[in-house]
Amino acid sequence: MRQLMIKIVVALSYFSMGLLTAGCESGDALDRIKAEGELVIVTRNSPTTYYEDKNSPTGFEYALAKRLADELEVELVMKPEFSLGAIFRKLRRNEVDLAAAGLTLTGKRAEKYPHSQPYYALTPQVVYVAGTFRPRKLADLAGMSIAVLAGSSHADTLRNLQQTEQDQLQWRELEEADSMELLALVASKEVDLAIIDSNEFKVQQGLYPRLRVAFELGTEQHLAWFFPPDGNNKRLIQTIDTVFANLEKTGEMERLQELHFGHAAGVSRMGSHTFSRNVSRKLPKYRDLIQQVAQEYQLDWELLAAIAYQESHWNPQATSPTGVRGMMMLTLPTARELGVENRLDATQSLRGGARYLKNIKRRLPNDIAEPDLTWMGLAAYNIGMGHLEDARVITERHGGDPHLWADIMKYLPLLQKKKYYESVRHGFARGTEPVTYVQNIRHYYSVLQWEDISQNKPRPPVNTADLVPNTLRKGKFSAL
Ligand code: GLU
Repeated sequence: MRQLMIKIVVALSYFSMGLLTAGCESGDALDRIKAEGELVIVTRNSPTTYYEDKNSPTGFEYALAKRLADELEVELVMKPEFSLGAIFRKLRRNEVDLAAAGLTLTGKRAEKYPHSQPYYALTPQVVYVAGTFRPRKLADLAGMSIAVLAGSSHADTLRNLQQTEQDQLQWRELEEADSMELLALVASKEVDLAIIDSNEFKVQQGLYPRLRVAFELGTEQHLAWFFPPDGNNKRLIQTIDTVFANLEKTGEMERLQELHFGHAAGVSRMGSHTFSRNVSRKLPKYRDLIQQVAQEYQLDWELLAAIAYQESHWNPQATSPTGVRGMMMLTLPTARELGVENRLDATQSLRGGARYLKNIKRRLPNDIAEPDLTWMGLAAYNIGMGHLEDARVITERHGGDPHLWADIMKYLPLLQKKKYYESVRHGFARGTEPVTYVQNIRHYYSVLQWEDISQNKPRPPVNTADLVPNTLRKGKFSAL
């Protein structure tokens, strides 16, 4: 009865243009958020929503949430949950202001939860392993094993289809999981197919190169933010809709979508052929500069050159869609911290990168010896100190040695698996990337060292004059 009363009050206040809001027990959500100075959002820790980058939190939902918090001039508190069920539970219990978690706007959800205007369009995709049977339409799914997230819009779709069109559908719902787990199940052939949102597949496909889209299930759907059913959140929702509309109008929304979903995951890897071509074509122009900066920071110049190659292919003008720039691809905050004024200036960029690596290495535990210290420093350079620490913790838990890169690199990719990232401080990270990153640099580094050695190898003396040491030939000893 009380429940019903609350619902009626909420429904009334929802439609009364704020007239009844003053009388509502919970108070106006927008006023409360401003008074408390805090916006509390439940989300998912995943590559499309919210995760920690090299320096700071990131993800599409985080970016939108941060804009709202800035607009309201309040602190943003992101609370990650590890299942869709837990997210909606938090809403029902009125424990958060809203849910921003890559959630699809479905009729069923709209009946239960107030929601924002949609802010992103996507299509659910049926994913399979290349080389296995590819279903092309709904009828082909009969008898195949399908995995979806428990409580997801896709589980809902399958249930509806089973009742209306295709009674032979069978699927597995993964509790307490994220879509990356679904892809892992398909990749390991534990299930035939998974159904996942197109933006999630795009971002994660790079981690599972054998997975492909079989066909699109249904038509376009939309993501929206959801709110507690028992919260007085009409004005909050209006404000959010205005923020979204403005982002749309200024083109910022599209830019954010492109930034977060527009590029596939994975470190770009150039073949050794291209590398050696670049060593002769591009490196000569920057060799002296790299050597000079390396000397200033007491680094091997071949190492600094290898990092710069991995970062930008020795292109001081390089710019990536994620906003990193220059020879060493520094982010803006990192550049500021390092005193780099112009990221596109090769000298400044190299100095910034060298200093950054030195700082990171100094912050690593001092019982890690070289060369492992350098490899771990590079991994932290790529993925951030927090995530490297998490990988070291996981390594130790599994009986590996957290002082050895060879062990760490086995465990870093586990930060992509919920079972592991859930248990560590900084959560989800694209753990395979630092491994590729470090291994590439090691490869370039050793090739450059080898080149250097072979070029500077002392030639056998031709005559006795060649036996005079170089230092005695020129300069102040030339009189000799
Ligand atoms: N958008 C989905 C939902 O709202 C979750 C993500 C997925 O399953 O791919 O249920």
